[in-house]
Amino acid sequence: MPNTDLNRDLFDQVMVPNYAPATVVPIGGKGSRVWDQNNLEYIDFAGGIAVTSVGHCHPELVATLQSQGNKLWHLANVMTNEPALYLAQLLTSATFAERVFFANSGAEANEAAFKLVRRVAHDKFGPEKHEIIAFHQGFHGRTLFTVSVGGQPKYSQGFGPAIEGITHLPYNDIAALEDAISDQTCAIIMEPLQGEGGIIPADPAFAKRVRELCDKHNALLVMDEVQTGVGRLGTLYAYEQLGITPDILTSAKGLGNGFPVAAMLTTADIASHLVPGTHGSTYGGNPLACAIAAKVLEIVDQPDVLTGVNNKFELFKAGLAKINSKTPFYDELRGRGLLLGCALTKAYQGQASLFQAAALEAGVMTLVAGPNVIRFAPSLLIPDADIEEGLSRFAGAVAKVLERQEARDL
Ligand SMILES: *Cc1c(COP(=O)(O)O)cnc(C)c1O
Repeated sequence: MPNTDLNRDLFDQVMVPNYAPATVVPIGGKGSRVWDQNNLEYIDFAGGIAVTSVGHCHPELVATLQSQGNKLWHLANVMTNEPALYLAQLLTSATFAERVFFANSGAEANEAAFKLVRRVAHDKFGPEKHEIIAFHQGFHGRTLFTVSVGGQPKYSQGFGPAIEGITHLPYNDIAALEDAISDQTCAIIMEPLQGEGGIIPADPAFAKRVRELCDKHNALLVMDEVQTGVGRLGTLYAYEQLGITPDILTSAKGLGNGFPVAAMLTTADIASHLVPGTHGSTYGGNPLACAIAAKVLEIVDQPDVLTGVNNKFELFKAGLAKINSKTPFYDELRGRGLLLGCALTKAYQGQASLFQAAALEAGVMTLVAGPNVIRFAPSLLIPDADIEEGLSRFAGAVAKVLERQEARDL
């Protein structure tokens, strides 16, 4: 039985008010379906913000959690452990990378990456070379360094001095980048597709130029794949589709399917600058997290799963277009794989959260990406029938929002 004393009202009495959660309190999930305290069922098109990459309570992950949970949870990094070694082996054999650092969140993996790029430049060229180029609307996490690199002032302002030496440029603007980069630039930080910023893909020509300019100025290229990684865009990592190779890649969200785990991947040469004592994490690389992440990778990094992501994209695309032809609400469908955004029409600017709330009422969990984009990031294994059922519920939600809007306009 659910404990209904533990409800949304209690949140305001016991929690810091930095979040404004919905009133429903989910208590269970299976695959792409979730149930709340009142036993109402939801189709999950949100995936916990692109996290539950293989769905809720995947039986193989539950088995891994139980078997590793009965063996060994934690040691600290004074010793290594089998699951961490195995996961690092999987990640290095599946990507450009030769070395791995484990952390517990996207922000922490990025923090490690940002410290590393400065360290490499400091060691090789001296303290002058510390400037970082990043992009407007970029998102890299909520620590002070990561909000400073992120291109959304609302997240960085009001906390005293930010980290210095960071320049923000318009995303996909080659000329602006050519103008701004110099020999004092130590790194360019980019997402291959801006997730939080509104589902904006990098232009391949832009990505290619980023790589060239990094090489020309001895700067490192950091790809933040916290949201796009682990199959989300239909390849294990999204850089594979851009035709360039980063120097450092960060991965989190989908890597643990909800268990906190993150990784920073790089080359042996770059990694050699993080000598003992330069960086660390108490939990990072613990056996429980690594065993789960390794199982997630084994499940996701299969041709049929990655092809499935692209097929499911087509289902979403067709289903959304059908809704839009009856009840027009978006101008543009953005993204690919299972990271999609409906950019709202002029009439609905600023109202993405209204659609999200109506969708929840109709029994489907969605996300927003800023005020003007409705975002979908379901499990990579979501059954086609659940996509259909979720879209049919979503169609009802869209109709409701449009009706309410018309009523207001009258
Ligand atoms: C979510 C996200 C982060 C931050 O990850 P946390 O685990 O919340 O710290 C960083 N970068 C990108 C691109 C993200 O989407």
